[in-house]
Amino acid sequence: MAFCSFCFERHAIVFTTRTVNGENIDEAYCVKCAYQSKIAGVKESLTAAGINDGNIDEIADKIEMKMLENNTDGDVTGFFRDLVNEKIDLKPFAGSDAPVNKDTNMNLENSKPDLEAVKRFFEGDKYATEATGIVIEKAEKGHSVVSLMPNSRHLNAVGGLMGAVYYTMADFAFAVAENCILDSDTITVTQATQMNFLRSWHGGKITCTADIVKDGRYICLYEVKAFDKDGTELALIIVNGFKTARK
Ligand SMILES: [Zn+2]
Repeated sequence: MAFCSFCFERHAIVFTTRTVNGENIDEAYCVKCAYQSKIAGVKESLTAAGINDGNIDEIADKIEMKMLENNTDGDVTGFFRDLVNEKIDLKPFAGSDAPVNKDTNMNLENSKPDLEAVKRFFEGDKYATEATGIVIEKAEKGHSVVSLMPNSRHLNAVGGLMGAVYYTMADFAFAVAENCILDSDTITVTQATQMNFLRSWHGGKITCTADIVKDGRYICLYEVKAFDKDGTELALIIVNGFKTARK
């Protein structure tokens, strides 16, 4: 559960105690700080494993990402047990050399996939496409448009639109914008959503747009908006995504 005592950025995987003036001082190191430390034998064993100044950042990031992704919550023993038992796939993320949009940090390589292929892939999301009836209108990396023609199945007991309809549209629009590059090594899942209902719906088709605000190495932030047939904004939804390896 401990973070590195030196950089405070990554989880610690090496723990030491040293004695200064008769007092025991506990220290915890992430792999990078351990590599850069002068702890006897640590740098030598990491160097022997093939870690060097050129790849230590990448290795440290990979270990951190896998710990986050596998919810080890800093449980180092559990992390290495899963690693040994091959429950963790150490396949690296791809695309780090690809062109990037400076505003969002978004990788723009192959950012406009084939819409029909994207639709076929997302037919697997039965709740969004079959149970709810949402249609994908546009799919680009970082931007999507989905729509729905609500009917009596989508209404609450007082004849309004269920909030969950907006939620499903927002979650789906986000998923399409984030995961429409079908041969990508990563898949992004929803981590947190904030719904803001602005106005009530008075009939007609609803259109939902998802646009990336910020893209990071492990997380991303989207702004999703729902509009009625006249273009009036009905809901504003903020979605945080977490990137994980595509299995
Ligand atoms: Zn550190």
